[in-house]
Amino acid sequence: MELKNGSLKKTQEKCTYCGQCLEVCPRYNDHELIEKLCKYLEGNSDIDSGSLLRCLTCGLCTCACLEGLGIKPLISPARQKWINENGLTDIQTIVDPNAQNNIFKKIAEMSEIPMYKNSLGSVVYFPGCAGTYINTSMAKAAVALLEKAGVDYTVLSGIEYCCGTVSAGAGNPSSIHKNGQQNIKEVRKREAKILITACPGGFKAFKDIYPRMFGQLDFQVMQVSKYLELLLRNGKLSPETTLNHRIFYHDPCHLTRGMRVYQEARNVLEKIQGTELANKTPKNSACCGFEG
Ligand code: SF4
Ligand code: SF4
Repeated sequence: MELKNGSLKKTQEKCTYCGQCLEVCPRYNDHELIEKLCKYLEGNSDIDSGSLLRCLTCGLCTCACLEGLGIKPLISPARQKWINENGLTDIQTIVDPNAQNNIFKKIAEMSEIPMYKNSLGSVVYFPGCAGTYINTSMAKAAVALLEKAGVDYTVLSGIEYCCGTVSAGAGNPSSIHKNGQQNIKEVRKREAKILITACPGGFKAFKDIYPRMFGQLDFQVMQVSKYLELLLRNGKLSPETTLNHRIFYHDPCHLTRGMRVYQEARNVLEKIQGTELANKTPKNSACCGFEG
């Protein structure tokens, strides 16, 4: 099995077993974990699947490591290896868009899911499964702002357009392969020039993973905060109320550490009169725990 970025080789060459990654990790305190993961990936020992599943993929460990290593780069190939050898468990299929027990399909059966326009549009908004089924207020707010700014937009929402990154993070990359090609085709079918997404996973998929897998995209990919910043700069949107709030902006792990996007949302918030940011940078930002 080819390991992502040669993580095993890099760890074996550079890790000093200093334990700095474990100091910041919200999930592990096993000082032999890196050694155990390396041995498992080399095929020299077995591993407890429960321990593989504990990682939240927050990336704090990689940021803390002076060599840029950490635990996460080993977890991902170890999960894939485990699944190749043992098959998918309920814990993996719950985030697989093609599985019957997918959590978002269950939520859709139990609650009313907002419907959005689905037509041609020069901008496609991609709320992702989280925005479609869980953080519905986030998707509704983004769509309301696009309406207000008079953007020619359309929305790609629903489990059929799942980006596949959560499933891949759990060790099952099949839906990224399948849905990725289909999602790109759907954006092109709508004749869009720009794709915007609020979800960090969806953003990583379109901006980073899909181009690596399927080649350069012929539309621009932007995180919603960047697009809102542009709308504000072009005078298409302007904050109407004064808030008089001191605001703490929560930096999502996969957006901040995963994609290095953290300034745009702050710029947008600072444009609202009366707001004061409590955290000007993502320094010491913590993981919310949701992705795990
Ligand atoms: S991965 Fe980095 S931080 Fe963790 S033990 Fe190895 S060298 Fe230290
Ligand atoms: S990604 Fe987060 S939860 Fe996973 S090992 Fe690293 S610090 Fe721990």
